[in-house]
Amino acid sequence: MLTKHMILEPTDINIQKAVAALRAGQLVAFPTETVYGLGAHACDGVAVAKIFALKNRPQINPLITHGADQDMLEDYAIFDERARALAAQFWPGPLSFILRLKEKSGISDLVTAGLPTIGVRVPAHKVARDVIAALGAPVAAPSANISGRLSPTAAHHVIEEFGDKISFVLAGGVADVGLESTILDLTTHAPTILRPGAITATDIELVLNEKISYEDHTTLTPKSPGQLLRHYAPRKKLRLHAVDVDENEALLAFGSTRFMAARHGGAVKNFPHDRIRNLSEAGDLYEAAAYLFRYLRELDQSPYQSIAVMDVPKKGVGIAINDRLQRAAKAQES
Ligand code: AMP
Ligand code: MG
Repeated sequence: MLTKHMILEPTDINIQKAVAALRAGQLVAFPTETVYGLGAHACDGVAVAKIFALKNRPQINPLITHGADQDMLEDYAIFDERARALAAQFWPGPLSFILRLKEKSGISDLVTAGLPTIGVRVPAHKVARDVIAALGAPVAAPSANISGRLSPTAAHHVIEEFGDKISFVLAGGVADVGLESTILDLTTHAPTILRPGAITATDIELVLNEKISYEDHTTLTPKSPGQLLRHYAPRKKLRLHAVDVDENEALLAFGSTRFMAARHGGAVKNFPHDRIRNLSEAGDLYEAAAYLFRYLRELDQSPYQSIAVMDVPKKGVGIAINDRLQRAAKAQES
């Protein structure tokens, strides 16, 4: 049920309300530039436990800790030269690092899943940073959705997920990036991308002057729990690599559909609005990333049985888009 009064504009008063809730051990849903997050005070284990309960998230899956700035995170994580160079270039922004955890950091063990490492990021969205800065402590926040389902890129998506199980969502418009942050493991000899995102291996290589490894985890055994296949799934079945559309299918398009046919006659260009979404007619991968989860969500609500998905090029941010699409399609096979 969609209750409008639960979406709060990020006024000073509402930011204070969010901070008071976090201090009182409650959860707060807030915007970031990647996707909307469900946050708890990262040092409050009882509050963090509520995130796992509400999302139905396995406790072996660690959370990313968000700071208002790098300084705040330096109290908890050990930054090396590589981390500092990358932070200078990409923070605030959609890149998370896995770093060694400081001893007696005070971070809840649930956040790190008991590992000697911690995932950290400084988000670019002003509302997220205002809340964390006003709290004066880091916030552990995964995406504000039931575990395994599509990530929310707008405030009302969060309400669709949790209804009145949360007290409110801070509004912050539509998430610019639309995909979860790139996760880079800096605890290994060679930096490794654990989850692809808008900041690509090439972007990172240009700063570090060394090769970044990335394996296509959609086909491998996961090292990090975020690599689990069952993720980002709409309710409907997805059919990837579509070059035409079946009678019962809606279409998630990329690029021009001018000459694309429906199998049972007719042209895709004549489809009604509820049957087609185009990630980017111009073929822009950043635009496609920003719309991916929103359009999957909208087509999931359409009257068609399944969703045909056109190919998106596997380069740049397209690697992250393909990662999410493959997991979404795989989730339904299992
Ligand atoms: P999210 O679900 O967006 O909060 O992202 C969390 C993901 O970050 C997890 O699923 C892990 O893959 C990764 N992660 C977070 N903390 C760690 C850590 N300490 N070690 C390894 N991976 C981590
Ligand atoms: Mg998530």
